[in-house]
Amino acid sequence: MMQDDHEMLNFTVGPVMSSDAVRAIGSEQVPYFRTPEFSQLMLENEALIKKFAKADEASRVVFITGSGTASMEATIMNTFTPNDKLLVINGGSFGQRFVQLCGVHHIPCTELIPEFGYDITDEMLAPYEQQGYTGFLVNINETSTGVHYDAERISAFCKRNHLFLVVDAISSFLADEFDMKALGADVMITGSQKALACPPGISIITLSPRGVERVCNHDAGCMYFDLKDALKNGDRGQTPFTPAVGILRQINMRLREIDEAGGEEAERRKIKAIAEDFRQRVKELPFDFVSHSPGNAVTPLHPRNVSAYDIFTTLKDEYHIWICPNGGDMRDRVFRVGHIGSLTIDDNTRLIEAMKDMQKRGLL
Ligand SMILES: *Cc1c(COP(=O)(O)O)cnc(C)c1O
Repeated sequence: MMQDDHEMLNFTVGPVMSSDAVRAIGSEQVPYFRTPEFSQLMLENEALIKKFAKADEASRVVFITGSGTASMEATIMNTFTPNDKLLVINGGSFGQRFVQLCGVHHIPCTELIPEFGYDITDEMLAPYEQQGYTGFLVNINETSTGVHYDAERISAFCKRNHLFLVVDAISSFLADEFDMKALGADVMITGSQKALACPPGISIITLSPRGVERVCNHDAGCMYFDLKDALKNGDRGQTPFTPAVGILRQINMRLREIDEAGGEEAERRKIKAIAEDFRQRVKELPFDFVSHSPGNAVTPLHPRNVSAYDIFTTLKDEYHIWICPNGGDMRDRVFRVGHIGSLTIDDNTRLIEAMKDMQKRGLL
């Protein structure tokens, strides 16, 4: 039987629901891209990403065809060497991914492991002051636990210690406040399928002027992810190889939609309102909040009485609603409700009502 996919309501953290205009582009023929028109579109994408990230005017943006992890790996390969010494916040599966990438590329790193569900503290950072570290990696919103780390604290630490700061903002960009220039972040990474609300397939690396300089003086040791080559092509709005042209067109539509509706601030306010509405109403249900330092993008919940994964399955199969299951040892303990993408307060109502119905049926 065909799944009635258009009826599914999607509260995962990616891919998320797209606007009608973005979806319409998905049904068009994909155009040839070595044209002035496509270059123009790419230069506009770069300018709007810089604007929404509050990046320095001299910053640059690279569009990688590959999911968010591709840009995490490209960043590691293009900005660090085995002579670096990094600090990595490892508070969940995305922090773990950075640790794993450092291992694969032989970059020495020290893990900072916060208490589950909590931000790091000044006390945790103190032992690492002036210890010869050269860089800092953080997933500013650790999507697996919904913890949003204090960017100001990390920024101050990095400035004091002259660390090259890499921020994976993949689930945070457009959802939480972020001022790349003020924070002194050198790299900001995001992806097409989170708050950008486009199909997966493109990830985006914004480089500060210092980030551009580092990339230019660095041997990537790899061809497809050589950011020098990407920057050179990007000067004229092009990419070294065939990108996911259709998704880049959808990203352009989406960035323009956000810009016309009041920019990243308006989008952030909308996401925050949906998150707060949900968090208020879900208090009536038998769940505990997981994150003690929540960002706006996602609310992880711990069900008191039943398996988190069973809730995911029942909502999917019987209510046509996707929430986001957790993996690994959190599979039965935690599920997540996303607030990004084309969602409304009415959608929250549908989800809360479905959960209340499950409760009535003895399934919560
Ligand atoms: C989604 C996400 C990623 C990227 O995952 P992909 O599956 O490679 O797109 C990386 N970091 C964070 C914090 C994320 O939320």
